[in-house]
Parts: sequence; C-alpha cells; structure tokens
Amino acid sequence: MSAIPADLPLRTDLVGEEPYGAPQLDVPVCLNVNENPYPLDQEVVEAICQRVRQVAPGLNRYPDREHEDLRRALAAYLKKESGTSLQPQQIWAANGSNEIMLQLFQAFGGPGRTALGCDPTYSMYPEYARDTFTDWELAHRLPDFSLDMDTTIERIKALRPAMVLVTSPNNPTGTPLPMDQLTRLLEACSKVPVAGADQSARPIVVVDEAYIEFRDPGTPSAVSLIGQYDHLAVSRTMSKAFAFAGARVGYLAASRGIVDAVRIVRMPYHLSALTQAAALAALEHTDLQLARVDQLRQTRRQTAEWLAGQKFHGRPLTVVPSASNFILFGIFPDRDAVFEAMKDEGVLIRAVGPQGYLRVCMGTGAEMDRFRQTLVHVLKRF
Ligand code: PMP
Repeated sequence: MSAIPADLPLRTDLVGEEPYGAPQLDVPVCLNVNENPYPLDQEVVEAICQRVRQVAPGLNRYPDREHEDLRRALAAYLKKESGTSLQPQQIWAANGSNEIMLQLFQAFGGPGRTALGCDPTYSMYPEYARDTFTDWELAHRLPDFSLDMDTTIERIKALRPAMVLVTSPNNPTGTPLPMDQLTRLLEACSKVPVAGADQSARPIVVVDEAYIEFRDPGTPSAVSLIGQYDHLAVSRTMSKAFAFAGARVGYLAASRGIVDAVRIVRMPYHLSALTQAAALAALEHTDLQLARVDQLRQTRRQTAEWLAGQKFHGRPLTVVPSASNFILFGIFPDRDAVFEAMKDEGVLIRAVGPQGYLRVCMGTGAEMDRFRQTLVHVLKRF
C-alpha cells in the first residue's frame, strides 16, 4: 500500500492508485512475468563486461543521445530476424518497450485524444493512457480471443482514435494477429480522420510485438509492413525471447516520421551509456541470446498438451492456444485461491486476464516439473 499523505497535492486522478507490477517475491519458481528463464551464456557475459569496461572511463560525459550504434545494430537484428531492411532512422530504442509505448502516447495521445485497445490485453496500456491524459477505449475480442474485426473497425470509425493498439502475440492470451487482419486495420485507419487533430491526421496503428520471436517459424512480423504503411509503429523488446529483461531495452520500428515524433518527447540522454554498451554486446551474440527460443516453444507445446489433459471438478481445463512463452488456462471459480495455494507451495504464476484464468510462463525443465506437480497437488484440494 502506498503512503501518500492527503496534504500532498497529488494529481486528483491518481488518488487511490497503486504502482503497477506483479509481485517480486523470493520463491523457488517464478513463472509470473514472462521472462526467458535461462541465464546468459558466459561468452555474452564476457562481451558485456568488455563493452562496459570500454565506456566506463567516459561516463563523465553524457551518452549518445541518438544511440546511433544501437539503432544500426537493431536494424541489423530485424533484418536477420524478420527479413525486413529498415534504416537506422526508422528505429528507436528506450528503457524497455514500456518506455517506447509511453513515448508513443506522449507524442500521439494527450488531452482530447483517444487510444483504442482490444481487450483482454496487456494491463499497462490504460496506465500509459492515464499518465498522458489520453482517453482509453476498448473493442472486445471474440470468445477465442482473436480480434472482432467488424466491431473493432466500427469502434475506430465511431471514436476516431489517434492510436489503435494491438498486441501480437497478445498478453495474456498468447493469440497472434494474422497479417491479413493487421492489413485490414491499417487500411480502415487510413480512411478515418482523428478526433481532436488536424483534418488530414489518420490514426497510428501500434503493434506490440513484445513476444514475437516465439511465433511459429516462417510466419511474418508486422515490421514487414512498415515500408507500405507510414502509420504503423511496431514496438519490440529485448526483455523476453532475447533474455535481456534486466538490461531494460525496448525498441520501436516505424516510419521515419513516427520515430521523429517520438524524438520530440524523449528525455535528453534517456538511454544510458551502460545500457547501450550492454545491448550492443548482446546484439553481437544474437544466436546465443536466442538459443533457447526453440526449446521454450517446445516447452509451451508440451505444457499446453499436459494442461489440456488435466481435469478440475471432473471437467478438462481450458487452455488458450498460445504463440508466446506463456499459457492462459482455467477456468477456476476462485482463481485467486488457486494462485495463492500455488504461491504457498513455492510456484509463482499470475492471476491475470479474463475471469477464472491463470497465466503461466514457460520456465526451465525443472521449473515446469515443479509447476506440474504443484498444480496437480493444489487442484486436488479444491
Ligand atoms: N508489452 C507487453 C505485451 C508485455 O507483456 C510487456 C512486459 N510484460 C511489455 C510490453 C513491456 O516489456 P519491457 O518494458 O520489458 O520491454
């Protein structure tokens, strides 16, 4: 609980709010924040130390505000990972994709503007909206958690939002967004004037690809459409598949116009020289950083199958198909009780998303063994 005395002039809309975040608890098995569970390879650790040692004497100076080397390295990564060639001026990095998203809201949202999301989805989006005084609206997903295209497009036409946010794969459901649906959204948005903006302004479509490297091999990323759509912004991160959550590096891939808009609102020198050095070292070892992704996909397949074979009160569990490194499953009349019982037995998962569901992130083999044993044990008690 926050301890903010009433005589502090806190913004009225923030009164009673709590800081966002999953619990950070010291439990044996943490499967709650969708990290890559495997530590960095020693070769990458050495490379990071070397790069950091190189920049350390220069820490009396501010870092490269435009982080040009990092933007070049990220462009090279996207070329390799998604087959799309982008200019460094079409890339922008920040402290996690959380900061990328906030910068997008700062540049394109604001008072009198609306952002539209497709729920259930990532629970930070309404907070970016709140913090930038942007109205937050929702178009609900279908029962299988895919986008309800017709309703979403109707909502876009009615609300005339400045930003449309879609998450692929979606958190917490793991649902991927097919390219034909994204193209339909982009085409629809290109005909809708934004409320509260210049007459010629059209909504930007932000695709949050935090978990994209876990998609089925061979399926495209939204970055492949950037050349065709100037209003498409793709937010990505090194926190998940790339196994670099502790370094806090997210990035944006978009038209130069969108990147230049974000450059207006960024803090000067927002990305420290240490972060830039560490990220460059990790990007030089892309294959090692991504070495476990295949294995995590396999863990996801096995875990989904196993969960689908489990019963609760005589009925099989519902398991939502996932293209990510987590699985949403249920449905429990009291999911919080199941969550708490799992936690008490040392396995931290997440009570998030639609009523009755729990989300588990893929861990190491030993962690998943422990998850399975504990869930079986816990479900017997309810
Ligand atoms: N987008 C989604 C959908 C997420 O789930 C997360 C992290 N949970 C983020 C963005 C933010 O990740 P980061 O700031 O570490 O890049």
